[in-house]
Order: sequence, then C-alpha cells, then structure tokens
Amino acid sequence: MNNNGTTQIKLKVVLIGDAAVGKTSLSVRFTEDKFGDNYRYTIGGSYCTRSLYVANKKIMFQIWDTAGTERFKSIVPFYLRDADVAIVAYDITERNTFENIKQWLRLLQESAPETIKCALVGNKSDLLEKRQVTTQEAHTFADEHGLYFLETSAKTGQNIQQLFMDIGSIFVEGPLKQNRNSSVITVTESSDPPEAGKCCR
Ligand code: GDP
Ligand code: MG
Repeated sequence: MNNNGTTQIKLKVVLIGDAAVGKTSLSVRFTEDKFGDNYRYTIGGSYCTRSLYVANKKIMFQIWDTAGTERFKSIVPFYLRDADVAIVAYDITERNTFENIKQWLRLLQESAPETIKCALVGNKSDLLEKRQVTTQEAHTFADEHGLYFLETSAKTGQNIQQLFMDIGSIFVEGPLKQNRNSSVITVTESSDPPEAGKCCR
C-alpha cells in the first residue's frame, strides 16, 4: 500500500540483448521521454523507474538496463536472479541480433527465476527500409517460445508506452490474448508451469 491507500505493484524489469540494439534508448524513452542519436556505451548496468496506472493499479517499473557486450555479459545473471520481467531486445535492421536471441533465452533459463515473464522486442521499427527481420518471422519465433512480442521505436516512441502497459496488464489482469494491430502480437501467459523447452512465460 502507498500513502493514498492504493496498492502499488513493483516490478523489476531487466533489459537484455546485444549491444547497440537500443536497450538504453528504450529505457530512456520510457522513463524520460527523450531520445539521443549518440551511442551511449552502457557500463555494467543502470537503473531507473517510472510508474504507470494499469487497470487502476499503480505499477512501479524498476528498470535495469544492462550492457550487451561480451565484457559485461557475465554480470547479467546478477540482475536477472530476482527479476519479474525480462525484455529481450533485438534490432530489426541487424539480423545477427535476432539470431542471438536464442543465446539470451538460454541465459534466462540458466539465471532467471522460473516465474519470470519474457517480452521479445524488435526495436528500431522506424528504420523500415533497412529491415532485416520481418514481423512475421519474429512473431512465429515468439509463438514457438511462448514469448510476448512487440516492435518498438525508441526514436519515435512507437509502442514504448504500449510495451509497459502490456507488461503491467500481464501482472494485473493475467494473460493477454488479443492482437491490437499487426505489429502488436501478444502470445502466451499463464500460471501453468513452463513447458519443456520454453524459456519463460
Ligand atoms: P544499447 O547498447 O542496446 O543500450 O543501445 P543504445 O540505446 O545505446 O542505442 C544504440 C544506437 O542505436 C544509438 O545510436 C541509438 O541512438 C540508436 N537507436 C536506439 N534505438 C533506436 C530506434 O528506435 N531507432 C533508431 N533509428 N535508432 C535507435
Ligand atoms: Mg546501453
């Protein structure tokens, strides 16, 4: 409970994915509504918060931004061990960052609690002409792995608030079932134990 008697839910959200996919930009866009074109090298990890009301419940997102470079990968498990949500991000214009998602999911399987909810996010959706990963392909991958999926742009802000509203809804209202539009794909969420081979739900 907070001072006004309303329940506040705190969610620890950890951003993971290859370097330069836009993890820091996603967190800065969401918490400060800003975007800078300069590459900001993340050292280790950083932390910021923002609260949103979802279905009349206040949710405080505690967002941990991690560094995707090999040098810092070894400390990512430290952030994951008590996480509620992992946002696994790739860059829609860099195919290898999508191919590396499997490695990030493996790290989640090894280091995150079984109860973690996982969102696959294809960032830089504003760079349509440079796209190397189709929405359909990522959607299929997300379906196969039981992940929630959304494409975002930290640059334009597209779907950033939506992403966190949807994550919040999973905790407040349970499974998300409907597709809002072609680029918003919601997949599985359930209270059942994870099926074999699935990273998180
Ligand atoms: P991180 O290493 O994953 O934290 O990536 P950064 O947030 O530092 O972003 C890497 C680069 O991609 C920077 O030059 C950003 O300005 C750029 N960037 C991040 N998000 C977007 C986006 O949505 N669209 C475009 N066009 N560029 C982006
Ligand atoms: Mg960063």
